[in-house]
Amino acid sequence: MLYEINEKIIKLEMEGRKIIKLNIGDPDQQTPMEIIKTAINAMKKGKTKYASAAGEMRLREALAEIHEVDADNIVITPGSKWGVFAVMYLLLSKGDNIIIPSPHWTAYELAAKSLGVDVKLVKTRLESNWEVNVEDLKAAINNKTKLIILNNPNNPTSKVMNEKTVEKIVSIANERGIKILSDEVYADISFVKTKSLLEFEGEHIVVRSFSKTFAMTGWRIGYVIADKTLTDKIVKLNQITVTNVPVFLQEAALKALELRNQIIKVMRKKYQKRADLACKIFLDTKLKFTKPEAPFYIFPKSEGLNSETFSFNLLDKGVAVAPRTSFGDYLEHFRISLTAPDDEIELGLKIIAEAFK
Ligand code: PMP
Repeated sequence: MLYEINEKIIKLEMEGRKIIKLNIGDPDQQTPMEIIKTAINAMKKGKTKYASAAGEMRLREALAEIHEVDADNIVITPGSKWGVFAVMYLLLSKGDNIIIPSPHWTAYELAAKSLGVDVKLVKTRLESNWEVNVEDLKAAINNKTKLIILNNPNNPTSKVMNEKTVEKIVSIANERGIKILSDEVYADISFVKTKSLLEFEGEHIVVRSFSKTFAMTGWRIGYVIADKTLTDKIVKLNQITVTNVPVFLQEAALKALELRNQIIKVMRKKYQKRADLACKIFLDTKLKFTKPEAPFYIFPKSEGLNSETFSFNLLDKGVAVAPRTSFGDYLEHFRISLTAPDDEIELGLKIIAEAFK
């Protein structure tokens, strides 16, 4: 269905129609100029050569300080997506299975399938505030289960996991010798406190990114935090595949960290305002939704809705959203990404609201 929607967007745009794109999680704003300038200066200074497959030491040290780990526990990757794939590639074998609470970011599932790994989805529901039922998760585990993937805050629900729930999952995983990978790419700019998996008992794997926090999606820079045995293996995998993330990007990323507090404040405020607006506009509609606790997304539901037909038809009114296809078995839901210019978001939300009056 995503293919059909994209094709229709292209066709409508070629006919001169303006489509408000609330279907992709890519920030509308430009990367902060100081970060861009740092990359350009680094290139001018000749930071254009092959380099360490682990990442630049200064950047790893700065990240290690933020996350209170050693630099050896950090490896820089071309986006967190590569980090997720590398972890799965190195830890899993054909015939293993992994457990993912759903709705979920589809890339986990596609990566697993490409490695011949089975995926067991543990469904969560809007009516239960998207809480993971720990008994359901426990029931999904068998002797082939090697990894649990948590996405905290979650894409598409923008829900931050309850700390007690994480604690229970960690305890089950530790008991059964199962690793947990926590994808925390939205954590830096979440609206409520998001406790990193690193703060829980045991050795865990975390992926983080510069993409969302600093509006740097296209730069392709993220990192994995893990025990040294695993980071060493990722470094070796980097060596035989991507070699290294360009040094000029890493210098810019270091600048981003310098400006971190200030940028986070601005980003969080911007997305909080948009989330509040979405909640306000949807309040007197038939849509059910949970209030976003993190930036970018809202994942409303309408009883009896076929979100695929709805999303396809909504394009005729000039608005693109993502139907459930991308996130699991959630036909009555669709995902709105609040990552377009403010005036477009407001208009797009009003057009959507109109369909559910
Ligand atoms: N994790 C989640 C949950 C995401 O939604 C995305 C991007 N859509 C990513 C990871 C990928 O981020 P990156 O640009 O760092 O590869």
